[in-house]
Amino acid sequence: MQLGNLPRIKLAHLPTPLEEAPRLSDYLHGPHIWIKRDDLTGLALGGNKARKLEFLLGQARQQGCDVVITVGAVQSNHARMTAAAARRLGFEPIVVLNGEPPDQAQGNLLLDRIFGAEVRIIQTDDDYIVAGVVEDLARQLRRDGRKPFVIPRGGSNATGAAGYLGAWLELLSQANASGVRVDAVVHASTSGGTQSGLYTGTKLTDSGVQVIGISAGPRREVVTTRVLGIVGELVELVDLRWRPHPDDLIVYDDYVGERYGVPTPECLDAIRIVARTEGVLLDPVYTGKAMAGLMGLIAQERFTPDQNVVFWHTGGQPAVFAHAAAFQEG
Ligand SMILES: *Cc1c(COP(=O)(O)O)cnc(C)c1O
Repeated sequence: MQLGNLPRIKLAHLPTPLEEAPRLSDYLHGPHIWIKRDDLTGLALGGNKARKLEFLLGQARQQGCDVVITVGAVQSNHARMTAAAARRLGFEPIVVLNGEPPDQAQGNLLLDRIFGAEVRIIQTDDDYIVAGVVEDLARQLRRDGRKPFVIPRGGSNATGAAGYLGAWLELLSQANASGVRVDAVVHASTSGGTQSGLYTGTKLTDSGVQVIGISAGPRREVVTTRVLGIVGELVELVDLRWRPHPDDLIVYDDYVGERYGVPTPECLDAIRIVARTEGVLLDPVYTGKAMAGLMGLIAQERFTPDQNVVFWHTGGQPAVFAHAAAFQEG
């Protein structure tokens, strides 16, 4: 494997803690639950994008770029972390966000502004329209003599996913050091980079661990197709002699509710339960739905009481403040 040969710039505080969650496990009458705290990666309030950005911006620097453009929803954690990382490394950040412009910037959008990113909000749900805007911007910048580096939605391509291949190796060494056999990993999955890296990592290390992605928006088939595509590129990138099996991929879309970005009652409950048992804060867009998924799987007796399940906390807490209305009743 060739992870070490890829250009990389240190941005995240690694390793992130692997914490036991005994009060949550008891409350749910579930397996041993562990929380992998990737909400503590640092970089403007943390989250999973820090690991991807180490490799993506390593590539941007290697290519001599000076502007970084990325895309996301109005409350994109990825856009916020890209803006911060770009500033830290001396790139100029541009974020193209799709959705409704709010009356007052809150959460991630507020932070985009504080980092001085150039923010373009486009009122569309159509990825092709967004991609067109990004292409036009990049073309204009090149014409002006700049060197833009375009990062896809969620930082999810093989380069970004390399961060989560490394993350799997990190978890494995933490688990080994504490004598814990990990049986399953549960995490929020949307643009697929996180799941691609973790899944490839488990296969590479032949660890027999199930990586269970809980979609925060797209249908199962959409997430699965994205993950398979990224995994296919990732194995080439790191020079692995192994090919993914579509039947091995586990993605649930049963916890999305109405759509991406709209918290379900189960998501809000999951946030309160984890806050009140473990003092750990989840978010209403991704990790709350992923935890609702873990709770649903426990209720279906998917795990035995002696198993070790790692809930991978991918961050996202700034969005809590953009969803304040949902929490007014405590
Ligand atoms: C982006 C994001 C995810 C989803 O990760 P993907 O790699 O895009 O599938 C999960 N949780 C949070 C908090 C995120 O910001």
